Amino acid sequence: NCQTVEDVFQAVKDRQISFIQIWFTDILGVLKSFAIRPSELEEAMTEGMGFDGSSIEGFSRIEESDMIAKPDPATFQILPWRPDDQPVARMFCDILLPDGSPYPGDPRYVLKRMLAKAAEKGYTYYTGPELEYFYFANNENPIIIDKAGYFDTTPLDRGNDYRRETIFALEKMGIRVEYSHHEVADSQHEIDLRYDEGLRMADKTMTYRLAVKEIARQHGVYATFMPKPIFGINGSGMHTHQSLFTGSKNAFYDPKDQYHLSALAKNYIAGILAHAREITAICNQWVNSYKRLVPGYEAPVYIAWARRNRSALVRVPMYKPGKEAATRIEYRAPDPACNPYLAFAVMLAAGLKGVEKNYPLADPVETDIYHMTEAQRQDLGIRSLPGSLYEAIEEVEKSEVVRDALGDHIFNKFLENKKIEWDRYRMHVTNYEIERYLPIL
Ligand code: GLN
Ligand code: MG
Ligand code: MG
Ligand code: MG
Repeated sequence: NCQTVEDVFQAVKDRQISFIQIWFTDILGVLKSFAIRPSELEEAMTEGMGFDGSSIEGFSRIEESDMIAKPDPATFQILPWRPDDQPVARMFCDILLPDGSPYPGDPRYVLKRMLAKAAEKGYTYYTGPELEYFYFANNENPIIIDKAGYFDTTPLDRGNDYRRETIFALEKMGIRVEYSHHEVADSQHEIDLRYDEGLRMADKTMTYRLAVKEIARQHGVYATFMPKPIFGINGSGMHTHQSLFTGSKNAFYDPKDQYHLSALAKNYIAGILAHAREITAICNQWVNSYKRLVPGYEAPVYIAWARRNRSALVRVPMYKPGKEAATRIEYRAPDPACNPYLAFAVMLAAGLKGVEKNYPLADPVETDIYHMTEAQRQDLGIRSLPGSLYEAIEEVEKSEVVRDALGDHIFNKFLENKKIEWDRYRMHVTNYEIERYLPIL
């Protein structure tokens, strides 16, 4: 594993690397890449590579389109799905302005800045996302390739070999996998990564999505992280386990508490819950995301926390109660089509706000909230997540927490983009309307 620029030069020589892909992410979480030959590497590593950012979603205006991509040597890895005889490597890069300052439209920078704010207070942020996805026969129709369910195994599970190969690929790239399994819905799968520090994990999440897609493609199937591809069965979530450490100590852990949660962890949960409606636009950024966040499909709808109850938005897993390293909270709203850099940044911002302002934590709700009446929920003060992208935009637009976390540039570009997205959708006539209205109206 490379750490320094010299390590990278050495690895490129030793492994006879043919191309080096330079990776970065646009505001919507789409991975972007350009490839350089080894002859350009020296310049790239020292000065960075110049490129035109004007066509990249959420990047600059035409008149300020000159950008520099500066590779991060610690992210050097060989891509296992490319040929062995002429290997291709990749590095994530930071985007800089011509004067060398960080570009405020770079999501990786936004997360770094938020992590630095946490570090000022002495905290390291760890996350463990669980990305779910579907394998389909192609990318035009959601045609399932198996009818297996939760934890089913072969021969019912037709994705088993693809998952296995994906895990080997991830491990070759230094990404540790905890386990994988068939998910609840037909043709739905999950591979869980070992938790890691926030920036490394956001990079790993980008890599994971590409690895899943590339391995699927090699086998003639299509893998998708679309949040709710099929009506009537579960959608795909990206439950995100998170904790704050001070050095090697888990600051969320208190053995004396009944939930083994420290006061800090409780403030953090309260922060996430208080600002949940504001951060939803970032964690669930597509029109389709809101088709998942409905009752009855193990996705959260109501703003509450619990230990066991999987209808709650925040869960405190207690598989190994009393194990310090395992103490964490699970935020269940995000979906795997989010921008992980921005999603981690706003979740951390919301949690830290709760810590900073010492928000009190309400009691957990251990009964199934889907089965409560509206009156019962009101009595308990349980609010809902936004029901549509439109509602989410309205919430985020007023959010100081999110504006601070993202910075004005990304905040404004994001809103602008999502308003256009909503307008396009709103004008569309759907199958639902044709089927329901045409026969009777
Ligand atoms: N697919 C569910 C969701 O949308 C989660 C199911 C599970 O992991 N048990 O969040
Ligand atoms: Mg899971
Ligand atoms: Mg799952
Ligand atoms: Mg989970």
